[in-house]
Amino acid sequence: MTAVMEPGMDAVETDAASSPYQGYVYAYPHKTAYRPLPDRPGLRGLWAGEPQRALSLYIHIPFCEIRCGFCNLFTRIGSPEGLTTAYLDALDRQATAVRAALDGDARFSVAAFGGGTPTYLTAAELTRLFDIAEQRMGADLRAVPLSVEASPDTATADRLAVLAERGTTRLSLGVQSFLDEEARSAVRPQKRAAVEEALGRVRAAGFPVLNIDLIYGIDGQTVASWLRSLDAALAWQPEELYLYPLYVRPLTGLGRRGAEDAGHDPAWDAQRLTLYRAGRDHLLAAGYRQVSMRMFRRTDAPDTGGGDHSCQTDGMVGLGCGARSYTSRLHYSFDYAVDARQVRGIIDDYVATTDFTRAEVGRHLTGDEPRRRHLLQSLLQADGLELAGYRQRFGSTPAEDFPAELAAFAARGWLAEGDADRLALTPEGLAHADAVGPALFSAAVRADMAAYELK
Ligand code: SF4
Repeated sequence: MTAVMEPGMDAVETDAASSPYQGYVYAYPHKTAYRPLPDRPGLRGLWAGEPQRALSLYIHIPFCEIRCGFCNLFTRIGSPEGLTTAYLDALDRQATAVRAALDGDARFSVAAFGGGTPTYLTAAELTRLFDIAEQRMGADLRAVPLSVEASPDTATADRLAVLAERGTTRLSLGVQSFLDEEARSAVRPQKRAAVEEALGRVRAAGFPVLNIDLIYGIDGQTVASWLRSLDAALAWQPEELYLYPLYVRPLTGLGRRGAEDAGHDPAWDAQRLTLYRAGRDHLLAAGYRQVSMRMFRRTDAPDTGGGDHSCQTDGMVGLGCGARSYTSRLHYSFDYAVDARQVRGIIDDYVATTDFTRAEVGRHLTGDEPRRRHLLQSLLQADGLELAGYRQRFGSTPAEDFPAELAAFAARGWLAEGDADRLALTPEGLAHADAVGPALFSAAVRADMAAYELK
């Protein structure tokens, strides 16, 4: 499960226009709007002239011990003998090629290892992963915020020791539910005792920030059972909590079980909204601040920050199969799939790749797309969009650029009034962030997403 600074979990369903749950948007444009790049542009040319003093580094590890029923992330179950070594070999080759395409004084100011489950790798393999990030990419991981995702079963003491010793500042544990029957229902079979033991090991390892991911909207979940799960998480005083609404996505375990129509179910929407509000209010009362619809931060948590990286204007370098990279003009990645066989094929192609000097699949950000992305990514945060920064970058205001979209949000009571410096959502707007985001997609991105054949 992903809940890092942002790369990772994303999904956009465009069904049920009136549903508050249309898609989790943190990265725009969505990967299903990427297409093969016919000219396969060279990375050196793509990065020339880009700001490179505060880059973000993301490394994707596409392996998990099990496939959770709700998950559409790019990952596979298990790995045949030798595959993780071959994967790290490929990462090494890719890192070497990508580093050579960056400026000599390029600097990373924030980093994340996501997946999949990075701690699927053994302690020795994790050591090698850190070596690649540091020695090949030149990232000073002990000096910048570094987030790593883990699952309870793979959060073993030896792996956690490597993560802590090499500078991990934030450990994100995908728990989903502390109640065994709800975990089973979301097709993530696990025992609460194992989760509690893992949390004990994580706390003992001493990461400055512990994040716990939880899911609401599970079949049979009630406000009472949801609050029980939240209280079990709060007992560990996590610095951060991510509360994810459950989505049933095509080709996932839950999707295959015939639950596709659940996305159109007004009763399920109502259940999720009720659970969201209950969870939000519970965390606000417990001393947490809401950062976005999903993210809550303990008010007294240490600020490990995002370095001086700005996701609006600074680039991201993604390594690994499934990772995206962002320049100001092009977002690019490798092929994407959810279906297990397709994912395995893409990973096999990745480990066989010797030439990592070109971008293969992606989308150019032309026309008003940079403005949409800036608006979308800012508005979905509780702090909203700083108007002066937008004007400085684009010479205009969001109201001038997107009058129809903003008028529609205002009509629904989703836009806060009275702050001349910021554009922000109201609490109800934030509750509907998964409808706000998709409503800001351009017609071209929407059309390409609709035409994408999920595999
Ligand atoms: S642990 Fe589960 S939710 Fe996380 S990436 Fe693996 S399959 Fe997906």
